[in-house]
Amino acid sequence: MSLPSQHTITCGGCGRRQAFTMWDSLNVSLNRDLKAELLRGELTRFVCAGCGWSGDVFYPMLYHDMEQKVMIHLCAPQGEPESLGSGGLPQMERFLEGYRFRRVNTRNELREKILIFDAGLDDGLLECLKCFMRAQMAGCNRPLAGELLFAGTSEAPGGGRVIRLEHLTAGVTETVDLPLAALTEVGGYVAGRLPTAGSDARKWLRVDADYAGALIGSVREDEAADGGST
Ligand SMILES: [Zn+2]
Repeated sequence: MSLPSQHTITCGGCGRRQAFTMWDSLNVSLNRDLKAELLRGELTRFVCAGCGWSGDVFYPMLYHDMEQKVMIHLCAPQGEPESLGSGGLPQMERFLEGYRFRRVNTRNELREKILIFDAGLDDGLLECLKCFMRAQMAGCNRPLAGELLFAGTSEAPGGGRVIRLEHLTAGVTETVDLPLAALTEVGGYVAGRLPTAGSDARKWLRVDADYAGALIGSVREDEAADGGST
């Protein structure tokens, strides 16, 4: 179930004090309308009824999708959640089986994870793809300085599916489409090293650029070791 809590926020425009609902926990399988509001940014936006001023409100949230078997913890970097125990309850053990647990630090990251899992893709694989893409662009003297976020998949005009990535730089959003097959190639490269649902061991994994960097680094080390022994 979803757990809201009531707070009072002071408007940054006129100083008016107004009630604001924070969703400490959001079960999107039970509250689908709230998921749409979250993706649109409305659930975390304060809009003053007095002067119309609006601003994003950052607060910790536990996102829970029972169909996708995903829990995502949005929290500040220093507010890392504890590992998830079942309290020894067998029914809880069964319920949590096959779940993926993720932790993110921003609403953009939360939105991205939701879109990745909704598209049936692997977030570790996508982070690796982004790593390769950043390296490639840097190699052509066009480094991607901003955040790079998955924004969905679509049908390419010439046929075949593409992955859409958004590159966010100061005030500008560039979109880049990559063939979905690029993900399969990356998958072949890092095969067997990605976290699977069961292997997460109830830890809130942060699957980001650092995670992908370490994973790709481990493949390269093994390749170097293999190269050295032959
Ligand atoms: Zn106001």
